[in-house]
Amino acid sequence: MASKPPSLSRNTANIHHPYQAPEGFVSPQVPIYKGSTVIFPNTAAMRERQWLDKSSYTYGLHGTPTTFTLEERLASLEGGTHCILTPSGLAAIAQVDFALLKTGDEVLIPDNAYAPNQSLASGELQNFGITHQRYDPLNLDDLAQRISSKTRLVWLEAAGSVTMEFPDLVAQVALCKTRGVLCALDNTWGAGLAFNSFDLTPGQGTEPLGVDLTIHALTKYPSGGGDVLMGSIITRSDALARTIKLSHMRLGTGVGSNDVETLLRSLSTLEMRYAAQDHHARELARWCEGQSVFAQVLHPALAQSPGHMHWQKLCVSQQYPQGRAAGIFSVVVDTRFSNAQVDAFCDALRIFKIGYSWGGPMSLVVPYQKQNIRTLPSPHLQPGTVVRFCIGFEDVADLQEDIKQAIHAVLV
Ligand SMILES: *Cc1c(COP(=O)(O)O)cnc(C)c1O
Repeated sequence: MASKPPSLSRNTANIHHPYQAPEGFVSPQVPIYKGSTVIFPNTAAMRERQWLDKSSYTYGLHGTPTTFTLEERLASLEGGTHCILTPSGLAAIAQVDFALLKTGDEVLIPDNAYAPNQSLASGELQNFGITHQRYDPLNLDDLAQRISSKTRLVWLEAAGSVTMEFPDLVAQVALCKTRGVLCALDNTWGAGLAFNSFDLTPGQGTEPLGVDLTIHALTKYPSGGGDVLMGSIITRSDALARTIKLSHMRLGTGVGSNDVETLLRSLSTLEMRYAAQDHHARELARWCEGQSVFAQVLHPALAQSPGHMHWQKLCVSQQYPQGRAAGIFSVVVDTRFSNAQVDAFCDALRIFKIGYSWGGPMSLVVPYQKQNIRTLPSPHLQPGTVVRFCIGFEDVADLQEDIKQAIHAVLV
């Protein structure tokens, strides 16, 4: 160890301690580099550094080796070339809106989108003179008719939040390309695993057909712990990446390296967790189909679920003949039962906890009243209260018993 310079006080010497750990420590996990300040060897070096790519470091907000590593891994996992991290999934949605929209523009949002995406549009975006419309995710003509010369951005979600309809994503993206509007996919459900966002029809056509951007709530699957909030924006477009990066820096929405390290740690098991939760959720969803108190089970891999054919087209492949899906599904409780009874059913569950989010170790449940989450007619949904189940890592038999006892306690 190098000795401290003798002329400094112990306190100053402690801050400017010359010891440097040797290079060459190798372990499976990436080190956590933390820093708001990045130290430059001299002023010329400070002026030369630029922050728009990953070739050097300037300031913590612009990235550290730890954040760059997560960004690179997430981008390559999804087949993108650029990734920008945000403090939450919702912040990623907001960042895309703020970077791409200006007064006079319009944004189109599916009627079954993650609800805060719509709240942002009717709040801040409206205040900034940016209009929005909701479109029917299962009706391509409805989307086509709503695209106008004002439309700058179309949000896509597959499957939709809560009601789980799976849109014809290939046709929606092709439509956006034909009409010259940008499309951004909230790909939290697919997690970059269920299908190929940037090449939706692999092997067909000369140019890949893909979305312009994706956002993810890393809070869900990539974290897997129910303990971190983070989001990502991924694209293959250099121009879009630059536009978003510039806006990201102006808004100052960086992420902390400790959280990034948690994500890096979880990312290695993403594939296995996704597959296991898919498997368990499908088993339970199929069992729920046999329960007379449920008028409908909404899971895109079930033949009766709205948009099942679109799911099949996108998520079933030679490698995955059973297709891929997230570990989340909803049931519509029969109209015989009041909203209060459905609340009581959720309260009677013992293993399922009442709480938002998904992708973590613990199974969760939330009841929703359709009139609060939908504005357009949805004839493919049975009337009744919607209950969403997010499946964790518990044994399916225990989860099934739990639903069974809550049905018997409250609904029959
Ligand atoms: C949870 C979620 C988000 C937002 O993620 P946060 O990190 O909680 O802000 C966005 N989209 C979808 C589909 C989600 O489920």
